Amino acid sequence: MQGESWGRYPRASQHIVALHRRDRLPDAGTGTWLPRGNGRSYGDVCLNDGGTLLHSAGLDRFIAFDPASGVLRCEAGVQLHQILDLVVPQGWFLAVTPGTRFVTVGGAIANDVHGKNHHVAGSFGEHVRAFELLRSDGSRRICTPQENGEWFAASIGGLGLTGLIAWTELQLRRIASPLIATQTLKFGRLDEFFALSQASDRDFEYTVSWIDCAARGKSLGRGLFMRGNHAPTGAGSATVPRRSPGMPFTPPMSLVNRVSLRAFNTLYWHRQRQPIRRSVDHYLPFFYPLDGIAHWNRMYGPRGFLQYQCVVPPAHASDAIGELLRQITASGSGSFLAVLKQFGNRNAPGLLSFPRPGTTLALDFPNDGGPVFALLDRLDAVVSEAGGAVYPAKDARMSGRHFRQYFPRHEAFAPFVDPRFSSSFWRRVMES
Ligand SMILES: Cc1cc2nc3c(=O)[nH]c(=O)nc-3n(C[C@H](O)[C@H](O)[C@H](O)COP(=O)(O)OP(=O)(O)OC[C@H]3O[C@@H](n4cnc5c(N)ncnc54)[C@H](O)[C@@H]3O)c2cc1C
Repeated sequence: MQGESWGRYPRASQHIVALHRRDRLPDAGTGTWLPRGNGRSYGDVCLNDGGTLLHSAGLDRFIAFDPASGVLRCEAGVQLHQILDLVVPQGWFLAVTPGTRFVTVGGAIANDVHGKNHHVAGSFGEHVRAFELLRSDGSRRICTPQENGEWFAASIGGLGLTGLIAWTELQLRRIASPLIATQTLKFGRLDEFFALSQASDRDFEYTVSWIDCAARGKSLGRGLFMRGNHAPTGAGSATVPRRSPGMPFTPPMSLVNRVSLRAFNTLYWHRQRQPIRRSVDHYLPFFYPLDGIAHWNRMYGPRGFLQYQCVVPPAHASDAIGELLRQITASGSGSFLAVLKQFGNRNAPGLLSFPRPGTTLALDFPNDGGPVFALLDRLDAVVSEAGGAVYPAKDARMSGRHFRQYFPRHEAFAPFVDPRFSSSFWRRVMES
């Protein structure tokens, strides 16, 4: 069966086996196996061309929730929006959430995802108390930071290769209301972003910036800096925004091109007139702006798109991010949603976790079949020179040489890979 990920590039031909039981793996036939969550990874980390996907949608049961401690136990196919629907009315929230709520907890662990609060809460894996790992030899392991700690560290950010996570136990964080008090500040240059990050990280749990990737010269790196905190009860109205109808079909070609990108970025920059805007909003548009538009990935047309997310260490962040933006604007390519964020100084829980101290930049590029690949190779050269890394969850093309440089603990990780498990991503970066 033809399969794709969120970026719709590359495509894969793979069998799908639906999971229903959390106590054992099914007999999924010959060839290699790979767990599959909700396919919200952009590239090939959730694809297994020529093999089988163990699809976790049927593992969607809650097992236990203690509203006094905020400890939740659920099966690995439960999605973050289902958790939020259950726990927000009881005064709890995810300790870390990525920019979409349509991901499974299994997928969130296997990519050790991060959110807008990395500088205070680290990555998703830091809030995982336990999970059970099923291996193709029939063995089952309960993993916690203390029990089977080495399996725990290999499976967090383990790209689905160490076995199937059947269920997990998470620690949630308390909230007083479903509201977020936000401030949006305009900044005119890249160095202002770094100053704002430094000034905000202590007092704001959530920080993230949108960058105008059409701006050049003295305006290079201008954007909007968003910061926020969970708000107390009664701070505003908790109206839940309605979802728009979204993209009903795939247009014959990408709607994202030089003209539309330039127009969108310029309009978006000028939309906010005042230097700072304050508001109190429901958490949905703050955390999940893109979830409001169903199937937005279709707007890139049948060829799909490539997302590029990198992190560069603090010592080189200013120069390297400036150079990346220069390369991108010079190419005329770019993104509606270019995101810049400062990661905190925290030790990641997984051997292959992507988050690390530094500045992270994420952008989408239409797949034009050629020039974009050359551009991304040039970006890799900058990231590699700066001692940074590219995020596997978003990747469809980095070289094996770069992956091994970005993730030096891949050698310590390799012995934990289940001999039956593999992915298109893993074969690409380990066999090239
Ligand atoms: C709009 C959007 C915004 C995003 N924002 C962010 C962000 O802010 N931060 C961030 O970090 N990421 C972000 N992402 C990426 C997304 O959070 C990750 O790719 C996430 O891992 C996807 O989860 P999934 O359930 O769809 O898993 P899939 O994409 O299906 O799989 C991801 C990986 O998890 C493995 N896996 C899945 N289930 C299991 C299991 N039960 N046991 C073992 N392994 C398993 C798979 O083998 C695969 O390697 C975003 C994606 C989108 C589309």
